[in-house]
Amino acid sequence: MSRVEVGKLVKQFGAVRAVDEVSFDVPEGGITTMLGPSGCGKTTILRCIAGLETATSGDIVIGSRPVFSSGRDLVPVEARNLGMVFQSYAIWPHMTIAHNVAYGLKVRGRPREEIEKRVRAALELVRLPGYGERYPGQLSGGQMQRVVLARAIAYDPELLLLDEPLANLDAHLREEMRQELKRIQRETGMTMVAVTHDQSEALALSDQIMVMSAGRVLQRGRPEDIFHRPRTAEVARFLGATNTLSAQRVDGRLMIEGIGAVPNHAQATSADRAQVLFRPSDVVLQPENTGEGWPGRIVFAQFLGREVQYLIRCGDRNITAEVSGRDGVLEEGAPVSIGVRPGALLVYPEAA
Ligand code: ATP
Repeated sequence: MSRVEVGKLVKQFGAVRAVDEVSFDVPEGGITTMLGPSGCGKTTILRCIAGLETATSGDIVIGSRPVFSSGRDLVPVEARNLGMVFQSYAIWPHMTIAHNVAYGLKVRGRPREEIEKRVRAALELVRLPGYGERYPGQLSGGQMQRVVLARAIAYDPELLLLDEPLANLDAHLREEMRQELKRIQRETGMTMVAVTHDQSEALALSDQIMVMSAGRVLQRGRPEDIFHRPRTAEVARFLGATNTLSAQRVDGRLMIEGIGAVPNHAQATSADRAQVLFRPSDVVLQPENTGEGWPGRIVFAQFLGREVQYLIRCGDRNITAEVSGRDGVLEEGAPVSIGVRPGALLVYPEAA
């Protein structure tokens, strides 16, 4: 069952088409994320679902209720029964945590006993029991983020919308809050739609990812599918396959110019020209030019602890590799043979 259905949604800002005929559905329960670079239209879609922005055309259905159709909002923002967590906290500094969390419930005119009960339950859910009487100034960044979540879920919304909810937390807290968000989703069964430009956040959080670019959805699916089977070179690059080489067919085989053949296991396309992509972490290096793989020379080595990052000159191209730091560090200038783990080479036909 779908919690949200979006059909052929368009949002035009003057000459800018921020959302370009986007259709998707959000399954009930679970976390769907929109992943894409800045300006790809993800926030605009979220704002249209919320009712903070009126789309130009298309349809939006939340639950079984059409909220937008034929260029008109049918249900105003306050009647859409949504929780929202946006980047700026918007927590009242002069109110206690309990009053901040109670805010949405008060606005909705709920009885006092119910408010107290729900505030207590929400603070327990985000693991801040007993913090109700404190003031925002007495809390850390991570605790504040939990308060924002508690406030958004206190009135049991049908849908929770999150716009870069973890963006202003430091790396450690971000990871902790990722797990917390997922735990809260699993405990409540709530449907969440989040926006992020961070691929590892999207992979860690999501049941469904929508990869977006220039107002369109490039691919939608489970994190593992998107990561291992990106449909286009653009999606692959966005998910970390930053090494890109061009290949063309010579005597029936795809050859990378000035470097060597594409391995047999990756010769699946029949196109005459192709783009070959792979992640730095999928590179396998042999410390000498063994004749297997592509010959290269280390240009730059950077020891990062768990891994070593290499920049390798290969033909007239640069390749980045990340290999285990346990195997020592190869010297700059050392000759190497470059291989890519089977199945990790992503080959896309290119128009002639
Ligand atoms: P970011 O991660 O930077 O927030 P985004 O992917 O969420 O980016 P949007 O904020 O949805 O992207 O913006 C999509 C496009 O629409 C951008 O080109 C942006 O400049 C434009 N845009 C967004 N809001 C407005 C507005 N109110 N008026 C004019 N143009 C806008």
